[in-house]
Amino acid sequence: MKDTEIYLKNTYEESRETFRGHLDKIKENWPEAELFAESIAEGSDYTIDTIYADATEENEQVIFFSTGLHGIEGYAGAAMVHLFVEEYMDKVDPETTGICFVHAINPWGMKNLRRVNENNVDLNRNCFYKPLDVPRDINVNYSEERNVFLPNGQLKDVKKEKQELYEQLSKGALDEGYSGLKSAKGMGQFEFEKGVYFGGNGDEPSTEFVKKMQRKLLESFRRVIHMDWHTALGPTNEITMLNSEVDSRSGEELSEKYGLENISKFSPEDVKGDSTNHFNELKREEFPDRYLVSALFEFGTFGTDKMAELREFTTIILENQLYWEGAEKEDDRQWVLKEFENMFYPDDEEWRESVLKEGRLGIEKILGEEKVI
Ligand SMILES: [Zn+2]
Repeated sequence: MKDTEIYLKNTYEESRETFRGHLDKIKENWPEAELFAESIAEGSDYTIDTIYADATEENEQVIFFSTGLHGIEGYAGAAMVHLFVEEYMDKVDPETTGICFVHAINPWGMKNLRRVNENNVDLNRNCFYKPLDVPRDINVNYSEERNVFLPNGQLKDVKKEKQELYEQLSKGALDEGYSGLKSAKGMGQFEFEKGVYFGGNGDEPSTEFVKKMQRKLLESFRRVIHMDWHTALGPTNEITMLNSEVDSRSGEELSEKYGLENISKFSPEDVKGDSTNHFNELKREEFPDRYLVSALFEFGTFGTDKMAELREFTTIILENQLYWEGAEKEDDRQWVLKEFENMFYPDDEEWRESVLKEGRLGIEKILGEEKVI
């Protein structure tokens, strides 16, 4: 069996089973390690699974991996936990170091291959330190161009609709529609429940889970090293570290410190409701004496140029429309789903190999520099 087949699973159930199976191995180093499965919707089999262990002597630091906040992106994340258990775990000193691994913050999205959760919420636009941080009508341009961003009927001819979207978006590259979409991508929109980049109406259950976990880790450990695994953003087949502006270190400083080529900073002014942002704010406001590294790690798919951006927006819009309104033709339905997979979990051997290779690089650079492995 190829490495990519061992690590990169194809169904939520298979991925969760593999994750739960790590517990025995982890117990060899952390005998008190435990697995918790928290149900996200009552009566459903969607669970957020956590493997947690305190340090065996003293809680100096913790390695925290979170995965699947964006559903479908969780398969690559689960592979990182698996890699860690196979290749890096024995390099960690369990006497001083605890572990916390979370499988599928958005289990419904992971199972159903969507990026958003069961309420169409982008969970990284839902996690606010101060609850009323954002006015509901934050995104005026989005609202004005909502005929483009909201589902407006069954897909009838995807080729044609795709072409129209490309034209609308590219000719409008400088006008309100495009900038509305661009800013919605960053700061979400809070008016249209069926629209893309919806940030929700208050904390989703997954967000409550995330906030509780972040607080617990800051309370329990002096140093917290958090890698939140994602896909799609950044250069194709490469890893990108995406860091909150709340972390005062500049991109150059981070680049020098960790020796990673692709490091981006995002600003809380442009990006709203991101969970690592929340983590950094929580630390700054309530745990100033703690040391925290919390960043997103992305495996790039489409790339970073203008065409890639258009393809990305078009894919997100068409998938959302398909979800709400369906497609007249089965071929069109398949095409949209495939394109969505190409964006977030490509069935492409080269990409899958790059996830493992670049994932190892990210783990070694971050955990190595932070002296936990
Ligand atoms: Zn993501």
